[in-house]
Amino acid sequence: MAIESVNPLNGKRIKKYPVLKPGQVSRKVKAAQDAFLNWKETGFPERSALFKKAASVLEKKKDALARLMALEMGKPLAQGASEIDKCAWVCKYYSEEARGFLLPEKIATDASKSYVAFEPLGVVLAIMPWNFPFWQVFRFAAPSLMAGNTGLLKHASNVPGCALAIEDIFKEAGFPPGVFQSLLIDSGQAAAVMEDERVKAVTLTGSTQAGKSVASKAGSLLKKTVLELGGSDPYLILEDADLEKAAEICVNGRLVNSGQSCIAAKRFIVVKAVEKRFLELFRNRMMDKKMGDPLQEDTDIGPQAREDLRDQLHEQVLESIVKGARCLLGGKKPEGKGAFYPATILTNVKKGMPAYDEELFGPVAAVITAKDEDDAIKKANDSSFGLGAAVFTKDKKRGEQLAAHRLEAGSCFVNGIVHSDPRLPFGGIKESGYGRELGGFGIREFVNIKTVYVT
Ligand code: NDP
Repeated sequence: MAIESVNPLNGKRIKKYPVLKPGQVSRKVKAAQDAFLNWKETGFPERSALFKKAASVLEKKKDALARLMALEMGKPLAQGASEIDKCAWVCKYYSEEARGFLLPEKIATDASKSYVAFEPLGVVLAIMPWNFPFWQVFRFAAPSLMAGNTGLLKHASNVPGCALAIEDIFKEAGFPPGVFQSLLIDSGQAAAVMEDERVKAVTLTGSTQAGKSVASKAGSLLKKTVLELGGSDPYLILEDADLEKAAEICVNGRLVNSGQSCIAAKRFIVVKAVEKRFLELFRNRMMDKKMGDPLQEDTDIGPQAREDLRDQLHEQVLESIVKGARCLLGGKKPEGKGAFYPATILTNVKKGMPAYDEELFGPVAAVITAKDEDDAIKKANDSSFGLGAAVFTKDKKRGEQLAAHRLEAGSCFVNGIVHSDPRLPFGGIKESGYGRELGGFGIREFVNIKTVYVT
């Protein structure tokens, strides 16, 4: 058995890696557990210094890492470079803030002393996707390792080079052996790692289907999970929106990472009164985006990460059209090599079509017409997902009210693109998963919230 990385630009194999055998996996789990026993005793200053070093290694290697992403999963270079900057940011952020987030909390009771302490759990398995192959991993690793856990990474099978590069970053930064390791295994081998009693918790970012499978396995073992799954984020364009600004943000929101982001804008719910003008602005801007080789500096949309994923997206587009959606732009699979898919706009999207009900993981915008604000909210919430949402209106109070109280999502933005930020909790509701990453909430996911009571 082998894991292969294939360049989605031309279908050529980059490299073949043997998968680890069960005995090799077990040795790595042992190394993670042995490392944990020492790592949990290190103080915050030591861990902070190592994460600061990791940030500088990331910054030093930025260009090479962006290139690696472009080759393995098609991310345009500039976007890869900003992903690495964000990884450095999350390392620095937790190196400064982790201690404060985990300070014991005194609680007055009838005890002479009672408080809550936050203790690491042990070895945490991270099952990660290919779309942000560095950011998704550092978003888990910085808080979890700063809290005193050790990490094992089972990365997506199409980005083994990124998986090994991440392990190298930790090595080069001087982390003790075993604190962070990559396991080159396929998804079928993950269950055995979860069954290992030395592994205490699992985090997964990926599809809802993978999340359900991993959560049920972890549930049968009573192991804690955090799941960051798919999304079909609605962007609501109300009749009083600044349409120029909204169109600009919506295009960027849809095309981030060539459309392959859990929090990409996917459903555009536009109030009828402004639909015609919005579509004009939106279409013009979508048409301006250049698709091509991710290694060219002026490329906005690279190839999709894998040909099978591109084909699956095209099927969703075709089925939506058969069911009555209109294709305003794109919608055709380009001829020739590469897993390319063009910027596409579907209008007249209705319930019962894949573009309404499912996640479209690529540069395809689903435009849904709403009668008014209430209808827009109803349609936004009419989804099995609940990751992010955005609302566009010149009335900030109105936008805030809808964001805070009426939209069903883990993060709601007013007049802005849904994005993650190390300082803010990130995660979903409904089939978008549970638990939170980032901020103070994120670092407390993989800790024992321990009550200490002294009579
Ligand atoms: P998957 O969800 O299948 O893969 C994500 C990670 O989970 C990979 O490491 C994968 O390993 C692993 N995995 C999958 N199934 C299992 C399992 N049963 N047990 C343990 N690990 C598992 O994503 P795909 O790459 O197949 O993409 C399919 C769709 O998923 C996309 O079109 C998109 O809709 C969604 N997706 C969402 C992401 C997000 O950010 N929320 C990210 C990526 C995909 P392996 O690669 O070895 O199969």
